[in-house]
Amino acid sequence: MSKAEDELLSDFIRDKVADDLQTGKYDGRVVTRFPPEPNGYLHIGHAKAICLDFGIAEENNGVCHLRFDDTNPEKEDVEYVDSIIEDVHWLGFDWGEHLYYASDYFEKIYDCAVKMIRNGKAYVCELSVDAFKEYRGVPTRPGKLPPGRDRSIEENLDLFGRMRNGEFEDGSYVLRATIDMASPNLHMRDPALYRIKRATHHRTGDTWCIYPTYDFAHGLEDSIERVTHSLCTLEFEVHRPLYDWLLEACEVYRPEQTEFSRLNLTYTVMSKRKLLELVEGQYVSGWDDPRMPTLCGLRRRGYTPESIRRFCRGVGITKVESLTDISLLEHHIKDELNRTANRVLAVMDPVKLVIDNYPEDQVEELEAVNNPEDESAGTRKVPFSRELWIEREDFREEANRKFYRLTPGREVRLRYAYFVTCTGVVKDEAGEIQEVHCTYDPATRGGDAPDGRRVKGTIHWVSAAGGGEVDVRMYDRLFSVERPDDVPESGDFKDNLNPDSLKLLRAKVEPAILDMAPGTRCQFERKGYFFSDPKDSSEGAPVFNQIVPLRDSWAKRAK
Ligand code: ATP
Ligand code: MG
Repeated sequence: MSKAEDELLSDFIRDKVADDLQTGKYDGRVVTRFPPEPNGYLHIGHAKAICLDFGIAEENNGVCHLRFDDTNPEKEDVEYVDSIIEDVHWLGFDWGEHLYYASDYFEKIYDCAVKMIRNGKAYVCELSVDAFKEYRGVPTRPGKLPPGRDRSIEENLDLFGRMRNGEFEDGSYVLRATIDMASPNLHMRDPALYRIKRATHHRTGDTWCIYPTYDFAHGLEDSIERVTHSLCTLEFEVHRPLYDWLLEACEVYRPEQTEFSRLNLTYTVMSKRKLLELVEGQYVSGWDDPRMPTLCGLRRRGYTPESIRRFCRGVGITKVESLTDISLLEHHIKDELNRTANRVLAVMDPVKLVIDNYPEDQVEELEAVNNPEDESAGTRKVPFSRELWIEREDFREEANRKFYRLTPGREVRLRYAYFVTCTGVVKDEAGEIQEVHCTYDPATRGGDAPDGRRVKGTIHWVSAAGGGEVDVRMYDRLFSVERPDDVPESGDFKDNLNPDSLKLLRAKVEPAILDMAPGTRCQFERKGYFFSDPKDSSEGAPVFNQIVPLRDSWAKRAK
């Protein structure tokens, strides 16, 4: 970690936690929680919340719980539970024995509801979903008093018990808090606490046919776990009065909710609903498609947990809604891989280079530096022979003075090898270049001229003899506009998908690449950082995902 990263983080939430510790508000305890709903895979936005929740606990000798907020069985699944556990661990955080499920509290939450009814703070209401909304009204006008509000406590207890016993149809009754139908905050207009829903829960099966709402359950979950600082994103700010009201009405321990702004990234959609749509509609190959902003997608792309944590640190915690440039995320992985990834030679769009004065059957081994940023990475041998592959774009038949690569008459350096001078080309009938020809200077072995003469260009290459080929997946941004969510009424965010976000190619590669184990990160010199796909690679046949190109081609592209 660099100097700046060693420094303690500071933001308004950390300041608040420090204050609370100082005043002894929670007897010196710091308990946070990360409370995902298991209805999708975690994305980079969740990473921001995870780094905050676990980070604050870590920094203050506290604990952070991983709690599944599994109160909505229709959309939830164990597949998501398992993936969330894997992803939080992968990011580098651990909850020890503090793994919880909201569904484990269903009985306690039910008891709180009964207590509220007994205290005249909740009632059973028979309004349908539509009528519920109509009675609630709009912020500028008070709502209407719903039927059931004046029911006796006994009758409410009886009806609620029968709701639980499955005597009523789905949606025929709801339990509501008795608050204020005239509140300017719609969330306070007698919000729903329980709904009848015959759905099989992934943990409790068919034990329940009524489920608590998010608003009712969430605060109680925090309270039951004796959380001190309940951190969530800004959209819950308007729910906070209700969070506080319900905990007071239930006469239970009260944690404190604090909100911060969500992470939004350019060229990315972040809602689980939209990500699910991409998966189900097969616009991507799955939740872990390397173009997805999910943690499993980023992992498969080749991102490291460190780079994501550093990114989250860099973004910081505020209450200001903002849009973060995705190039900031790319910067962090480039910065890390520049230090840690070995350099190798691969040619993505090959054309043959023939060295006319090089012995025909000779193959020599040249020494190449693995990582100029890290001497301990050592060197390796790379085969060199008369016929090589170079990038098609590194040769131009006609070039201006600014083109320093191969063009007839010009001398360039072949990385780690020799100076070569281009002598001409061979074309097919269609005029397509088949071979570039050159001569080499044997005295420049290793890439330096003993007479001190210089060349302006250095290009990479792969020997035709001794090298091989691999599949490479070139990934580009999944969406072609900065804000894919911004679509006209009639449009759809999927209209903004980038049709060129995936290109497949066969690259010519040096032997070291063929030997790479699945899950290896490297730099293809002059091209970018690549990752041998853990799922699709097999021994001797790695498949590479482009993590990021070395240069940001988007910076130049017109917006
Ligand atoms: P989405 O809105 O993307 O579908 P969600 O908010 O419904 O996600 P949850 O499972 O409820 O997903 O989120 C768990 C925690 O992660 C919550 O505390 C939530 O505030 C936080 N979180 C979700 N998305 C982001 C984001 N983009 N930036 C920061 N925190 C987030
Ligand atoms: Mg949510």
